[in-house]
Amino acid sequence: MNDRQPPSPHDTAADAGKKYAADSLSAQTRLVHTGRHPRQQHGMVNTPVYRASTVLYPNLAAYLTHDQEFEYGRRGTPSSRSVEDVITSLENGAGTRLTPSGLSAISCALMSVVGAGDELLVSDSIYEPTRIFCDGYLARMGVTTRYYDPAIGAGIAELITPATRAVMMESPGSLTFEIQDLPAIVGAAKGRNVSIIIDNTWATPLFYRPLELGADIVVHAGTKMFVGHSDAMFGTITANRSHWDRVETTHGDMGLCAGADDCFLAARGLRTLAIRMKEFNARALDMARWLEGQAPVRRVLHPGLASHPGHAIFKRDFSGGGCTFSFALPKAPEEAMHALFDGMELFGIGVSWGGFEGLIILPQFTNNRTVTSLPEDEQLVRLHIGLEEPDDLKADLKKGLERYRAFLD
Ligand SMILES: *Cc1c(COP(=O)(O)O)cnc(C)c1O
Repeated sequence: MNDRQPPSPHDTAADAGKKYAADSLSAQTRLVHTGRHPRQQHGMVNTPVYRASTVLYPNLAAYLTHDQEFEYGRRGTPSSRSVEDVITSLENGAGTRLTPSGLSAISCALMSVVGAGDELLVSDSIYEPTRIFCDGYLARMGVTTRYYDPAIGAGIAELITPATRAVMMESPGSLTFEIQDLPAIVGAAKGRNVSIIIDNTWATPLFYRPLELGADIVVHAGTKMFVGHSDAMFGTITANRSHWDRVETTHGDMGLCAGADDCFLAARGLRTLAIRMKEFNARALDMARWLEGQAPVRRVLHPGLASHPGHAIFKRDFSGGGCTFSFALPKAPEEAMHALFDGMELFGIGVSWGGFEGLIILPQFTNNRTVTSLPEDEQLVRLHIGLEEPDDLKADLKKGLERYRAFLD
């Protein structure tokens, strides 16, 4: 292995992250080496699953002065630290905390910056449960949410009032994949005491690093790409220096922690994230290009395509893309969509994404868009491109499109 010392067990997550981020090592190498301390565990390669509530102290003095790194299972274990250090390093943040799901990472991030009387600006294509949290729980706690068009860019300056405390972004947006101009939004919010939170689940820090572009807090549904195998729920929150204390405090106050087995699965998934993302990026883009030429597809919503309205910003700010995108079909009788979906042999019908297997869902837009709209005469379908042989997936889709087409006119 290398002769560089891993962070000592007494380093804080923040120090460990900084140490690695300051290194010249590439993200791919850090994914493989960060957060593992074989010499502390008999040489075994992977950090074991530390199942813990009680952590024992050697004596009363140590107990009274909290003089050890780990104090109680809820507050962190070597299992959680092993994942936090990787994400802090990749996102180039001051620290990371883990949560039992992506949604709890989002709610915790929001609660760490807004309070009664504050206003929150949220992009219209935000992940729907985030919206439900804002309109329900946060509204009850006295926080007002207003939605903005994800294409707003610097125009967000006009929506910011003295009460605005945060902007909650997601780029690309869920289901419709709009790309946002993060640097323009950061510029518009500058000096106005507005925190920028962004959901970076789709691109991962391998392809997009929002903190480096001026965001304050980055959240991930680790359930998707980090775990990567459809077998655990997981979330992460990473903050920059100015926001780290509040995130850490709120996370602690709420008693959030990820289970030890799920930390292990996330750590295991992260070791291969770079090769998976490289493959997913190439496969999804290839499939998106192919679909653009298939009848009766109207348009394909993938920011890596030249036809996508956010393509220029995507090329400027991202170095690759994720494994999900949508495509639009002309509206047809209801049976057409059932025929398309029910005949699928490889694409499974189910929510979530980021695993190894292809998935297909029918996005619904009844209550989750208030300032943007979609053409009335089309229906979107969202795909997660799995790691099956691409030609097999294309054949499955081609047959599905033919079944759909049989119902048109
Ligand atoms: C799935 C998802 C979430 C929620 O993650 P869970 O782990 O399911 O709670 C949040 N944001 C995005 C963009 C997602 O795709």
